[in-house]
Amino acid sequence: MEQQKKTYYNCSVDGCFNSTINSELSFFSLPVDSERKTEWLRLMHREDLKDKTCLRARVCEAHFCPNSIILRSNRKMLKRNSVPQLLLPLPIHNFADKETQTVIETAHKILQKAQFNCLRL
Ligand SMILES: [Zn+2]
Repeated sequence: MEQQKKTYYNCSVDGCFNSTINSELSFFSLPVDSERKTEWLRLMHREDLKDKTCLRARVCEAHFCPNSIILRSNRKMLKRNSVPQLLLPLPIHNFADKETQTVIETAHKILQKAQFNCLRL
């Protein structure tokens, strides 16, 4: 195998700070299929990337259920048709009252943390 110069990637999911520098996680590139790519970008809250080529956009392993990931010759790969499911940004809502919004955001953060801890086990 050819020795490649190490390239660093940051996770492109909104609010995720994982990068190949600070974690041992695997990073996956976006689907080539434009319909699936659009779905991923919607889940990632990164619809701003829709019209870009996204060559460097990556999604870290933390956003996929363990059963979406397969090991192939020691490399983690995504099963076909996998979509990011975990630790995703909260969909944007315009709640009438600020209090409801805060409660929902707090609950979402707790849920994200729980998912993350579960992945670390
Ligand atoms: Zn991430």
